[in-house]
Amino acid sequence: MANAEIGVIGGSGFYSFLENVSETRVDTPYGSPSDSLFIGEIAGRQVAFLPRHGRDHGIPPHRINYRANLWALRSLGVRQVLGPCAVGGLRPEYGPGTLLVPDQFVDRTKARTQTFYDGEPRLDGEVPNVVHVSVADPYCPKGRAAALAAARGRGWEPVDGGTLVVVEGPRFSTRAESRWHAAMGWSVVGMTGHPEAVLARELGLCYTSMTLVTDLDAGAETGEGVSHEEVLKVFSANVERLRTVLFDAVAGLPATDARDCLCAHALDGLDTGIALP
Ligand SMILES: [Zn+2]
Repeated sequence: MANAEIGVIGGSGFYSFLENVSETRVDTPYGSPSDSLFIGEIAGRQVAFLPRHGRDHGIPPHRINYRANLWALRSLGVRQVLGPCAVGGLRPEYGPGTLLVPDQFVDRTKARTQTFYDGEPRLDGEVPNVVHVSVADPYCPKGRAAALAAARGRGWEPVDGGTLVVVEGPRFSTRAESRWHAAMGWSVVGMTGHPEAVLARELGLCYTSMTLVTDLDAGAETGEGVSHEEVLKVFSANVERLRTVLFDAVAGLPATDARDCLCAHALDGLDTGIALP
């Protein structure tokens, strides 16, 4: 089977121009991931790209098989994951084009499976134990440092830290919800950050969220509110520099066997009842 050490969950805009990209289908005990995994080389390291919404963008945030996505990455050998995503800014100063590397999230999703360890039989009949994993600090400190350094190295001053509130979607927020999120002191709002980060932690993977603000959320602006068209427009206008920063971040990640962060020890002392790939 193909092999990779770093995973990127993001669309085809990140890998389509890489040379010698190989496509691999991976099946998992949790079903099928969003798409094939596309493996290419960046700075001498093998990177597996997974289009979060499928290559045709046909899978909405609430229907993504997050468990299959993370399991598939790990089964290829991936131990560190970068998760770029589009978000709405909750403060006027976080306008379109802001790159924010969050250090916390708040879960406001409603109907997503958010654990591998729920005591329920998997498709292969194996039954994981019920375990509780710490996510007090949900993102990898080393990955965050690599992402921030990469952005600064390209002259794109990032926002270091902040809280990503994750909503169920696929609709955008009402003005009241948006004002509430802002009043709570949260920074940006998205639809995919949870349970992606938590499931990565449950597999002992390093996970780093890199959020690109594509719009000011409904409560933070006075116009018509967010439109999907606007989000896509700002994202495509920024995808090239986001890709450059992403690739620099990949190059700046520690070697797999040199990981000494909390993520690598997330499962220490826990009996999950299942073998990890
Ligand atoms: Zn880590």
